[in-house]
Amino acid sequence: MRRISADYIFPIHAKPIKNGVLTITDDGKIVELSAFSENDEDIEFYAGIICPGFVNAHCHLELSHLKNTIPAHTGITGFIKEIPKRRNIADRSQQTDAAKFYDNFMYLQGIVAVGDISNSDLTFDLKKQSKIFYHTFVEAFSCNENETDKIMQENQDIVDLGKKLGISISPTLHAPYSMCDRLFSEMKLRAEKYGILSYHNQESQDENEYFENNSGKFLKFYSEFVRPNKPLPTGKSPIHRILDDIDKNTKILLVHNTFTTENDYDFAVSASKNISWTLCPKSNLYIENHLPPIEMFSRKNAKIAIGTDSLSSNTNLSMIDELRTVSDNFKNIELNELLTWATLNGAQALDIEKKIGTFETGKMPGTVLIDNVDMQKMMLTKKSTSRIL
Ligand SMILES: [Zn+2]
Repeated sequence: MRRISADYIFPIHAKPIKNGVLTITDDGKIVELSAFSENDEDIEFYAGIICPGFVNAHCHLELSHLKNTIPAHTGITGFIKEIPKRRNIADRSQQTDAAKFYDNFMYLQGIVAVGDISNSDLTFDLKKQSKIFYHTFVEAFSCNENETDKIMQENQDIVDLGKKLGISISPTLHAPYSMCDRLFSEMKLRAEKYGILSYHNQESQDENEYFENNSGKFLKFYSEFVRPNKPLPTGKSPIHRILDDIDKNTKILLVHNTFTTENDYDFAVSASKNISWTLCPKSNLYIENHLPPIEMFSRKNAKIAIGTDSLSSNTNLSMIDELRTVSDNFKNIELNELLTWATLNGAQALDIEKKIGTFETGKMPGTVLIDNVDMQKMMLTKKSTSRIL
């Protein structure tokens, strides 16, 4: 049994407790959360705050070898052109080594669960052995109707491989701009059967421009790079493509939402009550140099989750860096709210909130120490770091 205390404990399901004491079993199950008393002995005391383990709700671990290879601020169409060019700059064992390194790095930083997008089986063996729980979304995209059968089969084969290994896995759709109608509707049905999907939404203003007005950079991108054999449907905000006839019970991680408007938000919550607004602030700054309308989401009590995205568009896979980026830019968002996004909301997005996300008795959420917090203002500082205890 371990008894752990700090300046503050943030249990997430309840208000922060000054000098709270967390009693956990040696394998990490929460036994009790109590107030500090003078007679308490054998307590590990830490300077800083303690919260449950982080959930990184959006990552592409298999792209970890692309760190520092793609220039910042290319915009999304520039960025997508770079990925296939660079994906194979390292051989498979180098790619696996990079993924392993960052799996361990994420764990040491306090990440206990990850919603991870995969296009191959590269990371499956390491996920089976990892201390982190991964739910893997096997992604499909193609704008060419003639490729649909082939892409569907490849997607199925990778999902089957993961199932055979016993990892948590399901099929998913990439984005509104990257899928022809046939692949889009067939993959949507396939994902809905699993009851969960992750989807890149409104990552750029160009995406809105194309779908709403059939104009902007995507026209050039399609004519020069992707060449769909049928134009993608236009006339509405791109968020409609996934939500217009969505299965109401399917959990949806809408990822990025960098250019989502209040109208889009209002439409989305009328279409589904199961949306997690998964924000990746550092990746958005890296690619588009723009942040999502975080104040709007917060004001509307949106279920916000946080992701790091991949090292092709981020300098690190660190949840505390993402939270600091939010609090640097939106100073009125309270620490308890930020930490709720990074823990419980991520757990709910991945349907694992019965096991992790809060310090409720019986859960095994992991314990994270955050140091160098400004205790007066109760805010993260530039020096705040996190680690698993
Ligand atoms: Zn992504």
